Amino acid sequence: MKIMVAVKRVVDYAVKIRVKPDKTGVVTQNVKMSMNPFCEIALEEALRIRESGLASEVVAVSIGPSQCVETLRTGLAMGANRGIHVESTASLYPLSVAKIFRKLVEIEKPDLLILGKQAIDDDCNQTGQMIAGLLNWPQGTFASKVVLDKEKQVATVDREVDDGIETVCLNLPAVITTDLRLNQPRYATLPNIMKAKSKPIKKFTPEELNVEIISDLEIVQVTEPPKRKAGVIVSSVDELIDKLKNEANVI
Ligand code: AMP
Repeated sequence: MKIMVAVKRVVDYAVKIRVKPDKTGVVTQNVKMSMNPFCEIALEEALRIRESGLASEVVAVSIGPSQCVETLRTGLAMGANRGIHVESTASLYPLSVAKIFRKLVEIEKPDLLILGKQAIDDDCNQTGQMIAGLLNWPQGTFASKVVLDKEKQVATVDREVDDGIETVCLNLPAVITTDLRLNQPRYATLPNIMKAKSKPIKKFTPEELNVEIISDLEIVQVTEPPKRKAGVIVSSVDELIDKLKNEANVI
C-alpha cells in the first residue's frame, strides 16, 4: 500500500503575523516558515501506518515555491520515503492545488491520500474535500482515529463533528484529512535529518502536469483584526455589576 501525504509550507504558528502595508497579504519575507501543523499530523499518521506493516511507502508532496523543498526535507527527516515538489510561484488556491493532486494521484496511484484538515495560513479547509470530489473518492475529514483493514481495503475513520464523534467506513482508495487529536507528531532526529538529505525529491511544474493555475477568486484586501480594548480591574462586585448593567448592557 502506498500513502501520499500533502505537506504545505506556511508561516510558523508561533510567528506574530504582520499585514503588508499595501493590504495585499501578510509579510512572509524573513519570516520563519514551517510545515503546516495539521500536515505534520497527516505525515505522522502515514508513518505509523507504514510502521505497523500496513503500508510500504509514504510519499510527501508539497506545492509552491522552491523553498518547499525545505518542508519536504523535514518530512523526509520525519520518515517519508521520498518527496514530490510541484514548483510554482503563483498564488495557489485550493482548487488549483486539488487539480495538481489529481494529476499526481494519476501518476503515483496511491491507495490513501492524507492531508491536514486546514492550512493555518489560509484556513480554507477545502483542499481535501475538493480532491475527493475531483477523484470521486470517499473522504473522511477531521479524522481523530484511523483504522485500516488491508484485506478488505477499508479505512474506518472517527471524525470530530460538532456533537461528538462520527465513525465512517471508506473504501480505499480514499482521502483523509486530519484533526488535532489524531496523534502527536514526532520530531526528526539528527541522524534522520542527515539521512533525509539523500532521499529523492521528484520535481514537476504545473505545466508539466497540464494544470493551469487560474482562479475565480480574488483577494480584495487583507486587514488586521481590530485591536481589543484594554480591560479594567474593578474594585468590588457592586462595581462589576454596575458596569455590566450600565456600560456593557449585558445584564
Ligand atoms: P486548505 O484547504 O488550504 O486549508 O488546506 C488543507 C490541506 O491541504 C493542508 O493541510 C495540506 O495538507 C493540503 N495543502 C493545501 N495547499 C497545499 C500545498 N500548496 N502543498 C501541499 N499541500 C497543500
